[in-house]
Formats: sequence, structure tokens, C-alpha cells
Amino acid sequence: MKKILLSLGLAAVLLGPAAPAANAWGILGHRVITQVAIYQLPASMQAFYFRHMAELVRLSTAPDDRRAKNPAEAARHFIRMDHYSEDNPFAKVPRTYEEAAEKFSADTLNKYGTAPWTVMDTKQRLVEAFQQHDSTAIIKYSAELSHYAADTFVPLHTTVNYDGQLSGQTGLYNLWESQLPERFLKDYKLNGEDGKALKDPLAAIWGVIQGSYGFLTATYDLEAKISKSFTPQTKYTYAHRFGHTQRRYSDAFADAYEKEVGGMVAFRLKGASPMVASLWLTAWQEAGRPNLDALMVPAKLNKDEKDQLATQLRAWKENALFKEQLLIAQQKEKKVIAADDIQAVEGEAAPPPPPEPEAPATTDAPAAPAPATKLKVKTKGAIGTDKQKTKPSGASW
Ligand SMILES: [Zn+2]
Repeated sequence: MKKILLSLGLAAVLLGPAAPAANAWGILGHRVITQVAIYQLPASMQAFYFRHMAELVRLSTAPDDRRAKNPAEAARHFIRMDHYSEDNPFAKVPRTYEEAAEKFSADTLNKYGTAPWTVMDTKQRLVEAFQQHDSTAIIKYSAELSHYAADTFVPLHTTVNYDGQLSGQTGLYNLWESQLPERFLKDYKLNGEDGKALKDPLAAIWGVIQGSYGFLTATYDLEAKISKSFTPQTKYTYAHRFGHTQRRYSDAFADAYEKEVGGMVAFRLKGASPMVASLWLTAWQEAGRPNLDALMVPAKLNKDEKDQLATQLRAWKENALFKEQLLIAQQKEKKVIAADDIQAVEGEAAPPPPPEPEAPATTDAPAAPAPATKLKVKTKGAIGTDKQKTKPSGASW
């Protein structure tokens, strides 16, 4: 054990800051989730959303862009449930913000994450935008609601061990939410169910978070299992960037990990879109179902737009969006610029910002045990096992 602690400490020195954990789902995932959600809307909303698809897709990553400028932004993207209890935190954390803040203090919530309440706040802003018939605000808050809701589908957004940094698995976050979707999106089935009005959106989001939390043990344990067939040389690749050496999982490791957890990643990504569509629909209904066609100029989709929508809906149902190059995320430069003019050029042309640690307060203890050790995990059939019992702490070492 001592040797491992030493080598972890040494790795931290060599590698500089903790590996980045800046974009849940990465840019690709958020864009795909937002685009697919548009296909899952009822006709009374779909024309408006389809007309503004390029902008919605582009703005769906705006909340992550804000994190560089606003330190308070980060906590809106996650909720680290195991901070409150490793046994059954869902029995301990009240569902409403007011009750949770009273029990744990607003400062604590701001430190360990406010994801479910951020989803609700953003949904409320969308309701108000609908009520005011404000197209710009409808697009902005729809895109942001998509982002925050999609973040709750990422298991690593529900834990203090969000990058595997507490269990000797630093870099796990990027592997899960970026490397795997980028390499395997072509294989993902995206034809999920339609959005539906939610009777209790807060309860629905808590359900998602609980589901995400349930995938954590598999996320860590399968990494540890696969690591047994890799050496440090084959497991990682190193890049020099911004004066630091950064380590990430090798493509070979990503491919092996995909075989074990890829179904889980695809399942969570696919599940996010109907939730996004449902939240948009719920907000629209709460606002009194304003006539969105009346907000469009010109008011109806033209023949070209109708043909494009029909083609995309057909491809989506056939799981052929990727193959037919119909995802904006695949051709972002060309498509976004064509549809969105100058604004998009500004958004797309900038180089990626330097990586930003997600929560500096929790990155300084690389040797603590994995916090998810007492989780009982139910994994869906998609990843090959129905039930998986928890392994003891340190299994990955
Ligand atoms: Zn995010």
C-alpha cells in the first residue's frame, strides 16, 4: 500500500494539476443529445425547435464555457452525493433546495453541487421565456436546460471521486464522457422514446441522479478489471500541453473499456435526450402552451426545411444519423456556420480553453479510498450483467 501511495504522489507531481473534468459529455455528447431531443418533441413544438436547431446545439455547451469565467458555475453541473453518505445518501439529502440548504447549509450545497436545483431553475426560466414569447430566451434556456439535464446522466457527476482521482484512476472522467463517445458514437443507437410532460420534474431529475449513482461501482471496477491486462506503458498516453504533462488513457485501453462499459455510456447518452425533450415540453405546458409557430419568421417551415426534417426523422428512427452525416456535431464547422452566420463563427473558431479542474477543493487527496465502495449497483442488461455486487475498497489497486 505504501508503495502505491508513493507512486500516486509521484504521479501527481509529474502530472501537474489533476486531469481535467470540465465538460460533462464533452462537446460532442451535449450536441448530439440536444439535436436528438428535437426529434422527440410533439409537432406543436418541433417546427420552432428545428428551425433553431443549429443555435440550440451550439448553445448547449455554453454553461461549460462559462466555468472559465465564473467560479460559481462549476457546482451547477454536479451533485456529489457520497459526500453526504456512502451508504444511502438519497435517504439523507432532502429533494428540495430549501430543505437541503436548511439541513446542510447553502455553502455546503454550493461546494458539493446543485445540479438538480439548477435543472429546475433553468426550467423555470424557460417557462418565463415561453410566457413572454421571447424567442431568444426560449432558445438560450432550452439549450442550457439540455446541458444541465444531460449532465445528471453522467455517473461521475454524482461523486466526490469524479475523475477516479481518489482510487488511482485519474483520467476516468475524460475516458467515460469524451473518449468513448468520440470513438464509438457511430455505433450508438439514438432512436429513443418521445418526450412527455412530467408531473414532477424535480422527482424525475432525482431519479436520473440516483440511476447515475448506481452505475458508479461498475465504472470503477471495470476500469480496474481491464487494467490487469495493461501495463502503464500500454494503458496511458502522455501529451504536453500548457506547460504540463497530461496523461490520458490510451486508445487501446479505451477500446477495451468500451467492450465492458460502452453499453452503459450509450445507454446514458440515449436516455438523456427524451428527458431533455420532456423538460422542454413540460416548461411549454406550464407556460400555457404558447403558439410557437407564431414566433417563427417566416411562420412555417418551408419545403426545404420540411424535407430536411423528414430526412432526419427517418434517419434517426433507423439509427442512421451518424452514417448519413446528419449530426451537427459531426460537421459542426460547415453546418453551424451555414445556418447560424457570424455568431457561430465566433463560437467555433476559438481554440479550446485550457483544462479546468472541476472542484479544486476536492482534488488534494489522491490516496483516500474509493467512496463508492458501499454502493449496490444495478447495471442494465446493456452492459452485460444484471446485478453487480460491490467490491471492497482498493479493488482497483
Ligand atoms: Zn456541464
